[in-house]
Amino acid sequence: MTSACIQKIKILGTILDRVDYDGALRKIEGFLKNSGTAVIVTPNAEIIMAAKKNEALKGAVNGADLRFPDGIGVMLASRIIGNPLFGRTAGFDLMMKMLEMAARRNLSVFLLGGKPGVAEDAASNIKARFPGIIIAGAHHGYFDESSEGRIIEMINGSGARILLVAMGAPKQEIFMIRNREKLKCSVAMGVGGSLDVLAGRVHRAPVFMQKAGLEWLYRLVTQPKRIKRMSVLPLFLVEVMLDRFRQFK
Ligand code: UDP
Repeated sequence: MTSACIQKIKILGTILDRVDYDGALRKIEGFLKNSGTAVIVTPNAEIIMAAKKNEALKGAVNGADLRFPDGIGVMLASRIIGNPLFGRTAGFDLMMKMLEMAARRNLSVFLLGGKPGVAEDAASNIKARFPGIIIAGAHHGYFDESSEGRIIEMINGSGARILLVAMGAPKQEIFMIRNREKLKCSVAMGVGGSLDVLAGRVHRAPVFMQKAGLEWLYRLVTQPKRIKRMSVLPLFLVEVMLDRFRQFK
């Protein structure tokens, strides 16, 4: 499959690219050859539900250059709408593959997001895991819009080719789209809470749970305060089903 023929699917108004890891990495290889900054987002069920009520988020996701499907929810939804994705994919795993590519190809990386100290700890662990990788800089994700210019200057000044933005949705998606013309990196990717995981602050579900599509259950058990946020997941599937029924009427 070439990047030119990546299909799009639309779930409740949000566009996703029907792409697996290899297809996404080929697309990223293309971004690295282009001028300008390509924006990568990883829509999951929660983001799609939020985008229904948040036009800025929807615009940012739909306007991104790669919309990589994240999680079991979007995979199930794609089956309901009769245009199945290739399988369950996770933004975290695409980020790890991109870091592996960065180390192999000497592409420097800037880490932006998380509470103070998180990006620095993530940088140390990334360096241990991917020997030779160049981390061009790191900065926390708690700043207001008036500081954005300074942050962009810092990122551009670092010479980073890849920017990982870990400020959660919708902040990271809107930040990347709003600043894509000012950024000088080749790729900017929204990675949610991934720096917390890389810094060792939060743990990912065991692999058997990931394979069973139960990462959400692990998150719920280990971070029960997410219950309100996660209660949208069953509703998401119900809405996708209702949407599908409406099309048959
Ligand atoms: N965050 C940030 N700036 C903010 C709000 C959040 O850097 O203004 C960080 C937060 O510290 C956490 C991440 O964004 O590391 C969001 O994590 P969450 O688990 O909500 O994201 P998910 O992985 O579910 O998309």
